[in-house]
Amino acid sequence: MHTPPLDRLLQLRVNAERLYADFLEIQAIGLADDGSLDRVALSPQDVAARQWFASRIEEAGLTVRDDDAGNMSGVLPSRAKRARTLLVGSHLDSVANGGHYDGVIGVLAALECLRALKEADADLPVNVEAIDFTDDEGTFMGMFGCRALAGALPPDALSDSGTADYGAFRAAMIRAGMQPSDYYKARRDPANLAGYVELHIEQGPRLERGDKQIGVVLGIVGRTNYEITFNGEAGHSGTTDMYRRRDALRGAAQFIMRMHELVRERFGDGIFNCGNIQVYPGNFNVIPSRATLAVEVRHVDTDLLNSMETAVISTARECAATFRLDVIPRLIVRFPAAAMHPSVISAIKDSCEDLCFSHTDLYSYSGHSPQFLSAVTPSGMIFIPSIGGISHHRDERTDWNDVVNGANVLLNTLVRLALVHEGRGSVARRSGDLRTDHSANRHSP
Ligand SMILES: [Zn+2]
Repeated sequence: MHTPPLDRLLQLRVNAERLYADFLEIQAIGLADDGSLDRVALSPQDVAARQWFASRIEEAGLTVRDDDAGNMSGVLPSRAKRARTLLVGSHLDSVANGGHYDGVIGVLAALECLRALKEADADLPVNVEAIDFTDDEGTFMGMFGCRALAGALPPDALSDSGTADYGAFRAAMIRAGMQPSDYYKARRDPANLAGYVELHIEQGPRLERGDKQIGVVLGIVGRTNYEITFNGEAGHSGTTDMYRRRDALRGAAQFIMRMHELVRERFGDGIFNCGNIQVYPGNFNVIPSRATLAVEVRHVDTDLLNSMETAVISTARECAATFRLDVIPRLIVRFPAAAMHPSVISAIKDSCEDLCFSHTDLYSYSGHSPQFLSAVTPSGMIFIPSIGGISHHRDERTDWNDVVNGANVLLNTLVRLALVHEGRGSVARRSGDLRTDHSANRHSP
């Protein structure tokens, strides 16, 4: 009896031993003395990891591809003419003294999915591309590679202006064989993209606490960063009238306390953080003339994030007025909140049901590539548990069974997106009746 391609491909599983062998090999590239991972973007270690990745791609009989933003990928081409591309990936770079699972797992699992599909001679109607995005961790510019691919960076993004200095970034690009002025050519035409899926560790404790195997990401938090400077007047701390001084730090301190209260009262799911204070001139006996704060707000809802931003500015002005200060808010970066696409969310959930994995919906409070890719193509994200919620640290761990489970959900999800996308099959859960998934048709990527 002829087996429909979807049913046959839904039975595919990744080769867990091969995936583990890859994991052991790449772990050694940038392994620091204390056991952490030092593979910051475009460092010799990062370049070595890319070379290793390119070798694995070639070894698997896949096509190596790179672009002008340094993103490197392996492609399993479709035999169909004018096929669109389904992207799957993450990042091989790490933060300084980072862990061995963040990003890497997503790239290795993506590669393993392509190998499994190729071995099964899956004749998919889309190209499937396993991609490593450049500088996801923001050594030079956060999520640089995926932003370039999504066309979310202006052509002059690497030009120095004001206090911005990208000299080190440009030099690192040149050392890695890239031409800094060409990165915008990495932009892909959204019409040629069929979607994006990423497997990533949760980097938090929610899955472990809830005893769930898979997290289905509904959206990624948006964040807005400001540098806020309060300007007052310096003076002798002992001789200046206590009630007439213009103490910049006092205004800054009131601002921080008020913002924490305000966010708790008005934006229950929002986050406020003041991560740094620089005070001038910075002496025991001098009234602070200037206090500069590094401030961040996060929310999963764009409208509420915008309201939080407005609250930051108005509260800063009120606090400044109270102490007769001037205030200068300077926008540093605005990363949009991003909803994951219903078609990808439902494909991930159906995969979890098919594979009998417990799962839960959640929002990501850390930034990831789908934040930018979701603006140009239907995107989604699969989380697997982080032991103790630890991340960006040498103790970052995920149980290997959870890694394999996540890789299999990723593979199953890719098959569903690839075939439903072309309307070649009904998406059915193995445990239930074969049925047409109307939601999948409705949200065809
Ligand atoms: Zn990551």
